[in-house]
Amino acid sequence: MTPILLVEDDRMLGDAVAAALRQDGWEVARAEDAGAAKTALIDHAFAAVLLDLGLPRGSGLDVLNALRQRYDTTPVLIVTARDQLSDRVRGLDAGADDYIVKPFQTDELCARLRAVVRRSQGRVAPVLSYRDVVLDPAARLVTRGGQAVKLGVHEYRTLMALMERQGRVVARDALESLVYGGDGTIESNTIAVYIHQLRRKLGEDFITTVHGFGYRVGEVE
Ligand code: CA
Repeated sequence: MTPILLVEDDRMLGDAVAAALRQDGWEVARAEDAGAAKTALIDHAFAAVLLDLGLPRGSGLDVLNALRQRYDTTPVLIVTARDQLSDRVRGLDAGADDYIVKPFQTDELCARLRAVVRRSQGRVAPVLSYRDVVLDPAARLVTRGGQAVKLGVHEYRTLMALMERQGRVVARDALESLVYGGDGTIESNTIAVYIHQLRRKLGEDFITTVHGFGYRVGEVE
């Protein structure tokens, strides 16, 4: 079954919520900071995200914005403190499906979560396409000429970063932080390796190199 992603840095609260969700029949994956949440959301499909707004390494709003910017429509239930009315409004503006205010009853949380998951069913994320290559973010699937193309996690992220910015040059360092979620310790040249592998799988001229700067998929806008 598709799990719920629980994004909560307060470990005791997270444990309590995770237990309640499991009791309610969900599988639960956890992230305790914004970076880990962003990475998890790129790498895996979730039935819904339960998103605390106050997080280390960025905010819940950053996570939500990153998700919606790539047309990922995974339902998001945001969790806010009682006095964060403006955050709640910003969260809904940024594409959250609902919110719940701390402290909350876990029964109410589970009911709200079931409601957002139910409402989201049948909603389809737009796919990204260029030439005969189609990337479906909801299914984490890439096809070329209708045939599935097998990509590693970093190849997939590199391709998605370029396809969602189609027609624009993405600087190499920006691409690195998109692919690695801003985590340091990047070996130089690894992006070049992923680009090489993507070209091998998708066609040599699928990705254009802009020398001394970065890469582009698609025609210049
Ligand atoms: Ca928090």
